[in-house]
Amino acid sequence: MNASTIVIVGAGQAGALAAAELRQQGYAGRVVLIGEETHAPYERPPLSKDLLLQPQTARCAIHGEGYYAEHNIELKLGVAVTALDAQARVVVLANGESIAFDALLLATGARVRRLPMLDALGERVYTLRTLEDAQRLLPVLEPSKRVLLVGAGVIGLELASSAVDLGAQVTVIEQAPRAMARCAPPLLAGHLCNVHRARGVRLHLGSPLASAARENSELVLTLEDGTRITGDAVIYGIGVEPETTLAQAAGLRVDNGIAIDAQCRTSHMHIYAAGDAASQWDEASGRHQRRETWENANRQAQTAARAMLGVETEAWEAAWFWTDQCGLNIQFAGDMAAPEWLVRGSLEAPPCVLFGLDGEGALVGAITVNQGRDMRSAKALIGKRARIARETLADPAQNLRNLAREFA
Ligand code: FAD
Ligand code: NAP
Repeated sequence: MNASTIVIVGAGQAGALAAAELRQQGYAGRVVLIGEETHAPYERPPLSKDLLLQPQTARCAIHGEGYYAEHNIELKLGVAVTALDAQARVVVLANGESIAFDALLLATGARVRRLPMLDALGERVYTLRTLEDAQRLLPVLEPSKRVLLVGAGVIGLELASSAVDLGAQVTVIEQAPRAMARCAPPLLAGHLCNVHRARGVRLHLGSPLASAARENSELVLTLEDGTRITGDAVIYGIGVEPETTLAQAAGLRVDNGIAIDAQCRTSHMHIYAAGDAASQWDEASGRHQRRETWENANRQAQTAARAMLGVETEAWEAAWFWTDQCGLNIQFAGDMAAPEWLVRGSLEAPPCVLFGLDGEGALVGAITVNQGRDMRSAKALIGKRARIARETLADPAQNLRNLAREFA
């Protein structure tokens, strides 16, 4: 494929990693990386954490300055791809340019799920997805500002943590009866809520919004139970929707994301997808699954790039992600919906590790709290669906690395 062209739509985590992987694998053809944002590709995890806490020193660029030119990657920024002709294998850009491709990667990410009731309030209502969004939050998260956070998912809780660190008065409102319902077991989520409360956060769980209004200079949110909460600013994080517009219009299969197989190939043999936009076939569950994590974007980008070049890909370990909040580094691997959880150590006094077991007692999930060094061993054990006595798992004196070696 040396004289060929590979086009990547979306210059975010997956797009940038895929371009790099193509070059790393020795691909010498043309690589065109197109992004509608004006910045060179950057990482999003710092946007809710370091970038708010240390705006002067935090760094989020994925590659150093000069990387793209040095690796002969044509970076086209500030221009969206507006059309995809899958049959003719051509993309059309907002500036009118058409680019023919031999292979295409759709790495278009996701967009914030909108809540019209809050958007209708106008000024001082924020969401967080981009660098500009984070920069807009800097003057909002200031000492004594009353910040109303809607949604107690990862964004809501990470922002609550950063906002408290910055001196703001924080209220979190969540419609579901518990926080981080999509990605953490109740035991951990409940504990995290207590940690936030101890730091002064007012948390309303199981509290759908009834209405939102602006009264003089205040924003007023009213819950369904009639509670009125006033604030200076509202930030909401109620999930994201995969950016599938191009794929859908081009007739590719879409199933809660652009449907891809294990090699990240879509329903069109020359078109691949990766990252938040993609929904990958999962043999174990027998359905397509979409993951919205940094690691998934990297992995799928690498897989797609290699598949385009016919290079074999490595086997995947258990899915992994992390969150940093309230001084805790929490890492998650495997199945967070496991029916049984055991704690090694105490959540009240981290470091500690939580182990998730399935109905037959096999290890299917793990969570480390300020104990990231156990994660590699935990992932290896999850990969083996290891069956280990509950007393052994719960015993902090048992070295996890040794246990992983036993099952290797
Ligand atoms: P993105 O990084 O969103 O990149 C997609 C890019 O495509 C965007 O720049 C978009 O503008 C562009 N694009 C879309 N359509 C077009 C088009 N038609 N033409 C041109 N360009 C287009 N994950 C973790 O595991 N741990 C964390 O701690 C963590 N923290 C996070 C904090 C925040 C605030 C956010 C928002 C996310 C966080 N994530 C975290 C999730 C992680 O950042 C995402 O899963 C990851 O960025 C997905 O990468 P992606 O390439 O699929 O999408
Ligand atoms: P999220 O984790 O999906 O959480 C959204 C929360 O909002 C859920 O608790 C959801 O409750 C609630 N919600 C949904 N609809 C609502 C409504 N109409 N009114 C009130 N609450 C509602 O999404 P997020 O926190 O917004 O994060 C957005 C993206 O950023 C995700 O892709 C996430 O993975 C990524 N991110 C990741 C990290 C990390 O991994 N550390 C950190 C920050 C951001 P229900 O469950 O009831 O729908």
